[in-house]
Amino acid sequence: MQADSKTIVLDRIPVHLAFERVLSNLKMRVDSARIRKTVEELTESVNEKAVPKAVYKLSTAANDGKNIRIDGIDLTCYVPTLKFYPDEVVYPYVATCGTELDAVPVPKSEFMKHFIMNQLKQMVLMTASEYLQQHLIETYHLKQLTHVGPGEALGPNSQQIKLFEIIGNVQEKIGVRLSEHHLMIPEKSTSGIFFETSVRLERCMLCPDAKCETRRVPYQPKELLKYRQV
Ligand code: SF4
Repeated sequence: MQADSKTIVLDRIPVHLAFERVLSNLKMRVDSARIRKTVEELTESVNEKAVPKAVYKLSTAANDGKNIRIDGIDLTCYVPTLKFYPDEVVYPYVATCGTELDAVPVPKSEFMKHFIMNQLKQMVLMTASEYLQQHLIETYHLKQLTHVGPGEALGPNSQQIKLFEIIGNVQEKIGVRLSEHHLMIPEKSTSGIFFETSVRLERCMLCPDAKCETRRVPYQPKELLKYRQV
């Protein structure tokens, strides 16, 4: 762990993807010995090379009419029920599977390998995200964490620029940068703001995107009112 006064980098996140768990996460029939071998080899390479990372900042949140203000920077917020306590500390963050996995040679023309590798990178990203959340809960004695992020509850993806500005030097710290369309590179990265709630709320619950085809639960922003009694 590296830290300046308010920004903390987690760069020693342990990764061990278990082969059987990888197989079950792939949600595909793996009844050929050749595919099993490919999954096994890629899993081994990922376990050996992956260096997932996360950076977060101890920030102060405030409400400003419709928007939220984090460390003096205004962000659009689509969740009218999200109100902060005076000087509440929140945790803007970026987590990533890391650039190191780009060194594992998987030509895009090998569709199956490419697909498996993408799934493995996603699992490494989930490892980083879960590690970060556990770290925040234990370090700051929080009950639970809920998330809002750009492209979801925090307005359009272009809000990534402001989020990166709040954290500062994200590329230098963990190797994640933004494309001209405000997408994170490496692609298997995630970002947003964590804040304390008494239970963890599913992120779709606070995301108003009516066109999303992968929504897991209905938009229910009023649920936040129950679980902000922290
Ligand atoms: S509704 Fe869709 S876009 Fe919004 S958080 Fe859920 S999956 Fe993501």
